[in-house]
Amino acid sequence: MSARLVIMGPQGSGKGTQALRLAERFGVPTISTGDIFRANIKGSTALGLLAQSYTAKGDLVPDSVTNDMVKDRLAQPDAAGGFILDGYPRNAAQVTALDAILADLDTRLDAVAELVADRDELLARLARRAEIEGREDDTELAIARRLDIYDEQTAPLTSAYDARGLLVRVDGTGDIDEVTARLVAALDPVVR
Ligand code: AMP
Repeated sequence: MSARLVIMGPQGSGKGTQALRLAERFGVPTISTGDIFRANIKGSTALGLLAQSYTAKGDLVPDSVTNDMVKDRLAQPDAAGGFILDGYPRNAAQVTALDAILADLDTRLDAVAELVADRDELLARLARRAEIEGREDDTELAIARRLDIYDEQTAPLTSAYDARGLLVRVDGTGDIDEVTARLVAALDPVVR
């Protein structure tokens, strides 16, 4: 089985957790741009130093940097049989870049899954995560900034994918296992 998927959803929607579960289910790697940035920040690489000034505030890292990073990652052999993109694309320019990257690799997306949850639930989950994980960018200001960017720049992308017949919308509220079951039920029929 191969699955070429994007998982979208605001901060706190459980997207990272669900991406890992889907990756296991479909036997493909997750590609999380946030995780790649965090690993680079931790390792103090040039990319990490550049990214940190943006991630700390909840701002997007510039598209040129992010797109090149994803292009390199998708060209790795383990992504040849499929992948779950988590946290990318996040704006219209990244959608266009992803189209070009996949066309170069002679492949295309099978589906884009969107996890939907209301803002109050997201804020409550993020406050809990901040306590548990202590992520540098889980400050109140950075969280609010990321949710605003999601509403303004990322959520509108779902209509573009919907118009292509790729969008699957899933209720992200409730138990983690229930959300996974909903995602799998929605995605099983569309992966090749
Ligand atoms: P995440 O782990 O997905 O919440 O991402 C953490 C941070 O990494 C974001 O707030 C951005 O600063 C940066 N980031 C992750 N993915 C992207 C992306 N696709 N484009 C630009 N910046 C990103």
